[in-house]
Amino acid sequence: MVSLPDDLHYLFRPASRSEILSWSFGVIRYLRPNIGSEWIYTRNTLNDEAIFGPKESYHCVCGFFNNFERTSDYSDLLICPTCGVKFTTSNARRERFGHIELYTVAQHPLGNEGDVLDVIPVLPAMYWDTHVGMQLANSYEITLTSVEAKDQHRIQTSFEYILDNLIPQFVTAYRKSHPDVVAIAKGMALVRKEGVGTRKENKEKGTA
Ligand SMILES: [Zn+2]
Repeated sequence: MVSLPDDLHYLFRPASRSEILSWSFGVIRYLRPNIGSEWIYTRNTLNDEAIFGPKESYHCVCGFFNNFERTSDYSDLLICPTCGVKFTTSNARRERFGHIELYTVAQHPLGNEGDVLDVIPVLPAMYWDTHVGMQLANSYEITLTSVEAKDQHRIQTSFEYILDNLIPQFVTAYRKSHPDVVAIAKGMALVRKEGVGTRKENKEKGTA
């Protein structure tokens, strides 16, 4: 059973489809290709640098940018015309989300009955493109294979598995007031409710 501590449960609500899409730089449809495959096969996978940002700062996967000079402030607006990777630093991999289309609905395990999602957010690469994050990357791919198989039950459990994976990090980040808390919440398809303060904040405002 996936659940949050009561004080956190009270502060967050399930995100809507349009919120999740507004965070995303692209849809993930396929499993990652074998190591050494051409870049074209990384499109719409977790290895897609056009979605998640360049692994190496100011490099793109097709090579077009590799000897490019950063001549003006505007060079940060460039996107490679061939491979679609943004001309920027690898820090983008801390910020850029993707998403997975479910083509069905899944119940949000942290919402009320009727809080359903037909799209799942994929966290920026820094959360899963590491040895520690490997499980999370695998659970995104289990979601993809479940969508492909149209296996409703497995889609639901894979989303629960993603949440199970993120809840400990989310609770720790929240308790330590770490800035990652916002992104991790988004990765759980949650957003902070407006106008709802923590007990401590309410006390400070005198509204408790
Ligand atoms: Zn390129």
